[in-house]
Amino acid sequence: MVPIRMNDHLRGAVAALAPQMRADLERLVRIPSVAFEGFDPAPVREAAEATRDILAGAGLGGVRLIELSGGQPAVFGEIAGPPGFPTVLLYAHYDVQPAGPEKLWDAPPFQPVVRDGRLYGRGSADDKSGIAIHAAALRAFEGRPPVTVKVIVEGEEEATTQNLPALVGGNRDRLAADVILVADSGNWRNGEPTLTTTLRGVVDCTVEVQTLELPVHSGAYGGAAPDALMALIRMLATLHDDRGNVAIDGLVTMPWNGVEYGEEPFRAEAGVLPEVELVGEGPLAERLWTKPAVNVIGIDAPTIHGSRNVLVDRARARVSLRLPPNENPERALQILVDHLEAAAPWGAHVHVREGAPADGCAVPTGGPAHTAARSALAEAYGRPVVETGSGGSVPLIPVLAAAFPHAELLLMGAMDERSNIHAQNESVDLAEVERAALAEALLLERLANV
Ligand SMILES: [Zn+2]
Repeated sequence: MVPIRMNDHLRGAVAALAPQMRADLERLVRIPSVAFEGFDPAPVREAAEATRDILAGAGLGGVRLIELSGGQPAVFGEIAGPPGFPTVLLYAHYDVQPAGPEKLWDAPPFQPVVRDGRLYGRGSADDKSGIAIHAAALRAFEGRPPVTVKVIVEGEEEATTQNLPALVGGNRDRLAADVILVADSGNWRNGEPTLTTTLRGVVDCTVEVQTLELPVHSGAYGGAAPDALMALIRMLATLHDDRGNVAIDGLVTMPWNGVEYGEEPFRAEAGVLPEVELVGEGPLAERLWTKPAVNVIGIDAPTIHGSRNVLVDRARARVSLRLPPNENPERALQILVDHLEAAAPWGAHVHVREGAPADGCAVPTGGPAHTAARSALAEAYGRPVVETGSGGSVPLIPVLAAAFPHAELLLMGAMDERSNIHAQNESVDLAEVERAALAEALLLERLANV
């Protein structure tokens, strides 16, 4: 057992670090590190350098940028613990989603603002909070953690999975660990410590439909000549049945045995309007975490402003398909493409461009690090731990799981049901960041005793 004295010491140390954590987070949020194509790459590198400096300041040894050809640099460093003790790899990412329309934000997205204990700004939760947590956990041990700690913070989690195999494959020895702690997740409900045990995979494709050589007069030809947008709409409509269940034959599903998600809190969190029905059938947690979900995430068609009385000759849509943790993405993408092609009405010409597939993952939960994490979280929060799935994917996880099959994977963090990640007014509860950092420090302490 861990001596109580040490736990009290860590609790005090982390509490004293609260202003530092906030400063680290504010510094990072100010940098618009969007790694998407078409965005300025300079702030992405600036965020990598700021991450390096924060981690070095927290006592991490030999912190350096790992350059990836054609990609964004990752930040890596390591502190050796006493010999014979386990090695823990801490993960986060410093890149962020684009801010989207600024007018939807209550304050400029890259200007951190604290209101009611929450820090607002793009990346405040996803995933710059992860960097602040790792730095605080290291600082709590004054740079001398009881186990060997490695930290990897990558810079294109939101934008692409293209360079992941090179990052992991090219740095196997550096990254090798007994436990991999991914701080890119969070708590089911604010203050309720949570381990995420499943992640959905995701595939997408862009389907283009053409019916005419060129746009033609809708009065002269409408009624006989098919318009491409109507054809596309009919194809997209076949993706669900009338109750909103995914109607693509051949996809797998998986049962869910963890926490149950109530309809009322879900409606409120998702902002579903009154009287609007939820789609699909079966337990909500299953629909969100272990069943497929299909949505249209973009469409190219004439805008209403400037539209004319012509038949649309071509139109395209981007379709996103979320996958159960145990689905093979390549297989699922092929099923989606076949479905869309078969659904084309009127002999419309269809061309599908496939996006990059990302695997899902179901994390094994029987090992000693999982037990230690449950105990550390319960102590830090003073509440029992719950297990949830995630509807989103963290592409790195399945890559790490495949590269290091003997390592235990832990997904936790400081996000909560109000974090609004990827959307406007993203935020993180600073008290939750502190609790997450304490849990991480307690976990490192416990891992030295397993
Ligand atoms: Zn993230």
